Amino acid sequence: MTEIELAKNGIISDNVKKIAVREGVDPELISQDIAKGHTVILKNNTHNVEPVAVGKSLATKVNANIGTSSDISDIDLEIKKAIVAIKAGADTIMDLSTGGDLDLARRKIMKAANVVIGTVPIYQAASEIAESEGTIDLMSEDLLFDVIERHLESGVDYLTIHCGVTWHTIDTERTSERIQGVVSKGGSLLAKWMIANKRENPLYENFDRLLELTKRYDATLSLGDAFRPGAIDDASDRCQIEELITLGRLHNRALDYGVQSMIEGPGHIPIDHILPNLKMEKSLCDGAPFYVLGPLVTDIAPGYDHITAAIGGALIAAYGADFLCYVTPAEHLNLPEISDVKMGVIASKIAAHAGDIVKGINGAKEWDKKMSIARKSSDWNMMQKLAIDPDAVAYAREKYPPSDPKSCTMCGKFCAAKILDEKLMIES
Ligand code: SF4
Repeated sequence: MTEIELAKNGIISDNVKKIAVREGVDPELISQDIAKGHTVILKNNTHNVEPVAVGKSLATKVNANIGTSSDISDIDLEIKKAIVAIKAGADTIMDLSTGGDLDLARRKIMKAANVVIGTVPIYQAASEIAESEGTIDLMSEDLLFDVIERHLESGVDYLTIHCGVTWHTIDTERTSERIQGVVSKGGSLLAKWMIANKRENPLYENFDRLLELTKRYDATLSLGDAFRPGAIDDASDRCQIEELITLGRLHNRALDYGVQSMIEGPGHIPIDHILPNLKMEKSLCDGAPFYVLGPLVTDIAPGYDHITAAIGGALIAAYGADFLCYVTPAEHLNLPEISDVKMGVIASKIAAHAGDIVKGINGAKEWDKKMSIARKSSDWNMMQKLAIDPDAVAYAREKYPPSDPKSCTMCGKFCAAKILDEKLMIES
């Protein structure tokens, strides 16, 4: 039985038991939320990895994307990025490779990373066709499903599948005033195939075939948002919401079939659209876990999009989003470097944690309290231990040693914590 089937039958699975202990949440509650489709457990039943749960009452999770491109294809470099991302706190890794031998890249990355892995199979279908000098127009439906099966067989825990690209949404987009059109790589590949072949999206048309395959491995479908806004001006437009309605319907079909699914979300949206977007997703998709890219709250900061995404990510997590896909400083510019990966994960972890404080997630507020107490008592070792990036504290202490080990070089002998201590000493 799949996680959903076990939960619907009132059976607490071993994965649920593990997660309940890790997150400090009642296993019955987690199981009920899985049965309702409000929580998913990311773990392929053939993948020997610690499960990660995404959804209601649970800590906000963070994903880091890595992967080769057709311009830069260095698997060892991508493995290093995966390791850095995990060390920085990423809960999952998505291998988005599009260059070189993708089966080999995935196998190597999965072996080295040993965490929950997600992929976007259509990238591989497109890359394999490109290798034989073809274009996506020549993709056969069987090739696409064959790649999906290969990914599942190799143990991939969740797959981004752009089932919501339909002729209806393509027509809406064509007649819209959108600036950026379709910014999703997978979505644009599928839309191009549909237009060239005058066919409906095979992943939408044959959704049951996809469900049957996914169910065999108890993997999770991440229903991709091909029509996410890629510009602030495009936020919350008709094509985005039409696709969201379709994804909500597909989420319900998956749930009935015993397959877990979550919904992917924007994208570029201004701050005042964040709460309405969260509410729309939870309402139109019956409480399905929301997996968001950012959201980026402005278009004007290339080089700093980990910050624009963390602003949006903190807000949407606080409102109830479940899973943040990181954004690196290299977004919109180039394939991220190792240092970009670390910055992106840390920024998303801060956003996720800021959201968890508001959500009332077990242990979130307590973490901050411990840090405040360490600061109050000038306990630098404890501050380093508790910091989201302990290396940042270690670097500062080494590079700028203070005259008084209790303080730092920011205020030196005028350290506020020290002055107050002296005052209290006099009064006592
Ligand atoms: S010196 Fe200033 S910044 Fe540094 S610990 Fe003391 S009060 Fe804080």
